[in-house]
Amino acid sequence: MSNSATKRKTGFYIEVGCPGCGGDLELQQDFFVISCKHCGSVLRIRMPDTPPVYIVPKKVSRREIRFNIDRLLKESKQPLTGSDIQYKQIYYPYWHINAVVLKTRNRVEYIAERSAEGYGYSSYTRAEKTSVPIKEKKTEVTLSPFSASFQAGMVMENIPSSLGVRTQYIVAAPFSEENVEDDIHALPVIIPWQEAFKRLEKSVQTVGQINIAEFGSNKTVLFRPIASLIYFPFYIVESHLGDKYGRWIADGVTGRIIKNVERLSNSSPYEESNRTKIEFGKLDIDHHRCSNCGEDLPGEQSYIYICNNCQQLTSMEQVNRFNTNLEITSNSGSDNDILIPFWSLKFESNVSGSMGSSFGTTEKLENLVIPAIRLSNFESAYKLSRRMTVAYPELDLDPLMQFDKRFKSVLIGPSEAITLAQVVYARERMGISTSLPLKDITHLVKELKLFYMPFHPEQYFMLDSIFNSITFVKSTM
Ligand SMILES: [Zn+2]
Ligand SMILES: [Zn+2]
Repeated sequence: MSNSATKRKTGFYIEVGCPGCGGDLELQQDFFVISCKHCGSVLRIRMPDTPPVYIVPKKVSRREIRFNIDRLLKESKQPLTGSDIQYKQIYYPYWHINAVVLKTRNRVEYIAERSAEGYGYSSYTRAEKTSVPIKEKKTEVTLSPFSASFQAGMVMENIPSSLGVRTQYIVAAPFSEENVEDDIHALPVIIPWQEAFKRLEKSVQTVGQINIAEFGSNKTVLFRPIASLIYFPFYIVESHLGDKYGRWIADGVTGRIIKNVERLSNSSPYEESNRTKIEFGKLDIDHHRCSNCGEDLPGEQSYIYICNNCQQLTSMEQVNRFNTNLEITSNSGSDNDILIPFWSLKFESNVSGSMGSSFGTTEKLENLVIPAIRLSNFESAYKLSRRMTVAYPELDLDPLMQFDKRFKSVLIGPSEAITLAQVVYARERMGISTSLPLKDITHLVKELKLFYMPFHPEQYFMLDSIFNSITFVKSTM
């Protein structure tokens, strides 16, 4: 976590009020523990089960919007806005969705197989007569993050169909009627989340169809969609330009004029007849303290905390298959090592029975291992997961009693670990053949456990300190 104000920010930020002092706090979307920079309180944010609703406050004034419109008019040598200029401000709702996409792409590559006479090759020969092209079928399997946004309100002319690059840096506040100014209208949500998810799947499939499979079929599968609803500000401006009529839509954060609307449509844009009741969740902000003794818990981001005072474990997420007895490899490495957390997931026998062969080993694998640190690259996380899964049966694990500064935070929660296990499993099966059925294994998890294993840096890599063979690229951590 960085408090540096000079660092260029990207991403989606949420502004909340500190329950200790009332000061404003800005936190990143995925973050749930934060220290108040005003009073020092350590706070935790619990996300609701239903999608949360945010509002992006408007940043520009009417004067700036008018200035931008007049500048455009001047450039196109038209009369400027008149004294009858009218402004309407709206908050338009969008669904914003983050997900993981697993793609398989089937291609046929032609490789020239050169026969023994191939030595006589001359650069002047147009084609090498002695070579025979052979076909090789290749399946590329990749995992990547995916995010998209869709209109959640009624169809309105010239309102952008998605938030697009607007989500590269946004500060939003939890939505409540109080933080919508009186003269601004927040449009009702008419597209339910399930409908938005269907559109998301469709758009992912469409992207997938751009590459046509050269054999079999390409697959694109979406995992773990997480939705929030974002109200984004727009200005609708109307004015006469001499004897002509002008109407514009402007982005309420940047002030950019999105569209000059030539014709005024008859229907009122504020029609609310289609309103459906959609349930939204509320963010819950509280002091981050041990439930057992009331001691403040560490302020860094993690899914798991051990109280310094009474050693009780606090998990930020309640999952009933989570066995909270933490473990550590019996060889816990040297003082200079770091201890990386991993989730081990035990599956029902109908999954674990086929896991060994899926992972290319003859050994029986009962546990799938998922890194509990966040790697910047899904493929690296997958490869590390694969190596750890194969190595897991060789590990000696002891109960873990106490944390020290060598322990890395748990940044992948139990429910995300279950989804990632599904993704890794699917990735592995796809790598064998795209025609294998993709079984949903998320409800076949018998138990989840956390264990720690020592690693140390070696040039560009992190290398494990037990086998000295499991690596991942340092910069992805
Ligand atoms: Zn505070
Ligand atoms: Zn305690």
